[in-house]
Amino acid sequence: MPERPTLVIFDFDNTLVDSRIDYTGLRTALADMLAEAGAPPESREALLRLPLIELVERGAALSPALAGRMWTRIEAAEADGLRGAGAMPYAREVLAGLRQRGFRLALLTNNARAGTTAALAALDLASLLDHAVTRDDVPRLKPDPSGVRLVLEQAGPVRAAYLVGDSWIDGRAAEAAGVRFVGFGPRRADAEARGLRPWAWVTDLRELLDLAWEA
Ligand SMILES: [Mg+2]
Repeated sequence: MPERPTLVIFDFDNTLVDSRIDYTGLRTALADMLAEAGAPPESREALLRLPLIELVERGAALSPALAGRMWTRIEAAEADGLRGAGAMPYAREVLAGLRQRGFRLALLTNNARAGTTAALAALDLASLLDHAVTRDDVPRLKPDPSGVRLVLEQAGPVRAAYLVGDSWIDGRAAEAAGVRFVGFGPRRADAEARGLRPWAWVTDLRELLDLAWEA
């Protein structure tokens, strides 16, 4: 029997791709849409800390049409942020290095499938990933764990599973699905302030090649 592979699930934006999605501007626009539609008052500061999906859920509670307009606004921001975006430094080398070691690699993103597929192809990353799960494929977005569970199903039996991402929503989704979270980038303090306990944290993707994955 071949040994079960180690599965590493990667977030996309600001983990594998250096996208410039203006999340603050986007959340502000969505909060404005809610206020204009007569949503119950909530502090702006609290609204701007919510995952996008929770803002859309507040819109959906007012009207499906509003939720639809909010998704349109989100898709426009994603497309703007991905236009001309490059791969994160060393992303390709690190994915190739992990594959060489027999790891199974997957992508899990809250972005739409069309934009994700186009960006993966443009960045020459698609062939390095075994699975790609997007917003179009999951019942609920990160921080909900359903996307992580879907990747686990697709991957079949694995010896261990990890999720690498730059945001607390990645960590929450991983921990809720029983998968170890490896944080990446400058937002460790935010993740820990929200109660997450990353298995590891790296600030350069090349450090992934040196982690004790088999531990
Ligand atoms: Mg991200």
